[in-house]
Amino acid sequence: MTPFSYSRADNAADAIRLGVDAGAKFLGGGTNLVDLMRETIERPSALIDVTGLDDGIVDTDAGGLKIGAAVRNSALAADRRVRSRFPLLTRAIVAGASAQIRNMATVGGNLLQRTRCSYFYDDAGSACNKRTPGQGCDARHGFHRYHAILGASPQCVATHPSDMAVAMAALDAVVHLEGRDGARSVALTDLHRLPGERPDIETQLKHGELITAIELPPLSLAGNSTYRKVRDRASYAFALISVAAALEVKDGRITDVRLALGGVAHKPWRAVKAEAALMGRPASEASFLAAADAELSDAVPLPLNAFKVELARRTMAAVLEKLTQTSERRA
Ligand code: SF4
Repeated sequence: MTPFSYSRADNAADAIRLGVDAGAKFLGGGTNLVDLMRETIERPSALIDVTGLDDGIVDTDAGGLKIGAAVRNSALAADRRVRSRFPLLTRAIVAGASAQIRNMATVGGNLLQRTRCSYFYDDAGSACNKRTPGQGCDARHGFHRYHAILGASPQCVATHPSDMAVAMAALDAVVHLEGRDGARSVALTDLHRLPGERPDIETQLKHGELITAIELPPLSLAGNSTYRKVRDRASYAFALISVAAALEVKDGRITDVRLALGGVAHKPWRAVKAEAALMGRPASEASFLAAADAELSDAVPLPLNAFKVELARRTMAAVLEKLTQTSERRA
């Protein structure tokens, strides 16, 4: 591990001041960053510990929730308001990691965790444009079972590993940021970038900009929501694909829907084409499959992950079918 300094921030202004150094990184629970440092993939010169900046989870005037970036994943998943008003978020977090990791990981850190592409972690033997721009991408012609089918580029086919972020993408979450230029907010769906020509640049964050909170706007249909993760083994594997969905059905027709996919792209994938195809349609298997086909029409799978297209299609349909049943029971 490369030597680095460590300091603990007392507040956001303190963190931003301490994080001004070009090699500085903010430290949350460290459940990904410390692993990357051990592998020397990340070599920060300074770590600014921001776990003391825990602003908790508060109700907003609008009727939503504002979640401090240092809130631990386990606290967010267990929150009574989250469990009742945004159950897909609790499900996503619980599906994401072991209890020990959830107890350590922060909400801000969860959003900024990096891909688990094995070539990215193999500094000694593999070419990776994300780790070393211009080096090439060994995953494209290697083992890419877990890799992207949507929005990838010739430079990188990695996926974003977070489950929590997929649920937040479906919930229209807004990310609050603070930096030397002041405060700003971005939609969670705009926080992460597609790889394009620069897969090493993963988010819209400027250097030294700190995630301070994530806001969930009020969303009544989120009471009827779920998160389904399909993976190679029952516990603590990353998603082959995942579906976060909220649905409202009245008189047999879809009146509102939110849908996002995980394990398919370099970022949490909001399924806007499928949502558009579902609005006003009968809540039927035919509608669900047609909407899934609309979303997946742009899929460009690789030889070892072509199965993901049909897997995503069927999982979307199954989740929407399940939510149709629960929506009718709630009506
Ligand atoms: Fe690197 Fe992306 Fe290729 Fe993986 S998919 S080897 S992260 S460039």
